[in-house]
Amino acid sequence: MRTINHWINNAEVGSTSGNFGPVYNPATGEQQAQVGLASVSEVDAAVAAAKEAFTTWRSASLSRRAEVMFAFHQLVLANRDKIAELVSIEHGKVPSDAGGELARGIENIEFACGIPQLMKGNFSEQASTGVDVFSIRQPLGVVAGITPFNFPAMVPMWMFANAIATGNTFILKPSEKDPSVTLFVADLLRQAGLPEGVFNIVQGDKVAVDRILEHPDIAAVSFVGSTPIAEYIYSTGTANGKRVQALGGAKNHMIVLPDADIDMAADAAVSAGYGSAGERCMAISVVVAVGDAGDKLVDAISARLPKLKVGPGTDPDAEMGPLITREHRDKVASYVAGAPGEGATVVVDGRENDLPADGFFLAPSLIDNVRPGMKAYDEEIFGPVLSITRVDTYEEAVTLVNDHQYGNGTAIFTRDGGAARQFQFDIQVGMVGINVPIPVPVAYYSFGGWKASLFGDANMYGPAGIDFYTRTKTVTSRWPDPATSSVDLGFPQTR
Ligand code: NAD
Repeated sequence: MRTINHWINNAEVGSTSGNFGPVYNPATGEQQAQVGLASVSEVDAAVAAAKEAFTTWRSASLSRRAEVMFAFHQLVLANRDKIAELVSIEHGKVPSDAGGELARGIENIEFACGIPQLMKGNFSEQASTGVDVFSIRQPLGVVAGITPFNFPAMVPMWMFANAIATGNTFILKPSEKDPSVTLFVADLLRQAGLPEGVFNIVQGDKVAVDRILEHPDIAAVSFVGSTPIAEYIYSTGTANGKRVQALGGAKNHMIVLPDADIDMAADAAVSAGYGSAGERCMAISVVVAVGDAGDKLVDAISARLPKLKVGPGTDPDAEMGPLITREHRDKVASYVAGAPGEGATVVVDGRENDLPADGFFLAPSLIDNVRPGMKAYDEEIFGPVLSITRVDTYEEAVTLVNDHQYGNGTAIFTRDGGAARQFQFDIQVGMVGINVPIPVPVAYYSFGGWKASLFGDANMYGPAGIDFYTRTKTVTSRWPDPATSSVDLGFPQTR
């Protein structure tokens, strides 16, 4: 059985805890590897390496740090098929979808390549007579990232690209369900010239996470995962004096106004609802049909579902893969099973399928007449189940979204620019799409939901990421007239 290791000081390190977790091939149901689960002392070893590396890395010039990011970018581009394959084998998503995930991760590396520009501070000349005031950005020290299973390549890149470019050293605790890709990426960082100890991986479960949360040498924690764990990470990490950003779960509504192009809306709902088997925090989970859009949408969406090709990532025609584990597949199926008892209508039942029985497959399901108070509406399903909620007016649609516990993403489909503009003003959600079903911000903006989708003040990546991984120092300075100078005809160098 292949064993997936930690990564410390630019080398793989085997776990000594004696505890291992299974890593499955979700398409076949077979265990394909085991991952070592770190003990407290193994986390401590990674933190010690990162702490030692920090002194040197924070002193590396901005040009040098940018140079490493540029080299890393080239290596990731050269290896994108391999990375997508590694994601597909352990996560189950089809390679084209894994490639899409990677493309969005690469944007974050590109953003971090601009670190000399991003680290600029402010300067005020003559704040008082002969006195200047300026602010500089400095890294925090050792920072950690804890990531979910559903984007094993992209979400770590949301974090570590900015974290290390700003001069921090980094500990990644990936999901134990699909951890291999992070080791491959770590080796690309090594090849790019990143010094030992700057980027480290501890594989693990709650033991490793809890040690990260209490370790005195870790200054900040970035988390992406489910809401209960996000809340726990935020409260525990901040109680231990750390800066914490913790992104949680979601229930994303897509509002379709009666004037919308129904075919375009149906295409978008199917793409955003069932892509990656619905295991995306920005997946559309509820289509809110306003006025007479309901019947037309149900017809248009259900007509598209039989054409979706569900299968393993090894099938070049497959558009949607299996779910991550058998338990998760069964939990998702339970929402479909429970829907009629709560008064909803199962239009397409994904449990009825002829997909490989040993894999963790579930075909797309469509449930109509879903309302607040039903489990399928109130809870995050995180699978290929799309709900239709019918309302009479725009105002009812907005109230539905605003009353929901989650506020990650939302979208409106309409031809009415005024309605769309009103929607972006009214809606209590962090990321809004106008005729765009999955409005994940580009890497030079920042990602973050509202309400139970984010704990802490700091959004992730982009300018907010630079702010999160740095702190400012403000210097007030007065100088006597300069009395020293010397001649140097060499061309000024940055390194
Ligand atoms: P998860 O919360 O189960 O796990 C996330 C991380 O937390 C993993 O590294 C895991 O090992 C760790 N963890 C799990 N249980 C823990 C515990 N009891 N104590 C300490 N650490 C623990 O999430 P998941 O199932 O891997 O990912 C899916 C969830 O992530 C969904 O809810 C999805 O909406 C959310 N998600 C959110 C975003 C976002 O940007 N808001 C992005 C991707 C995924």
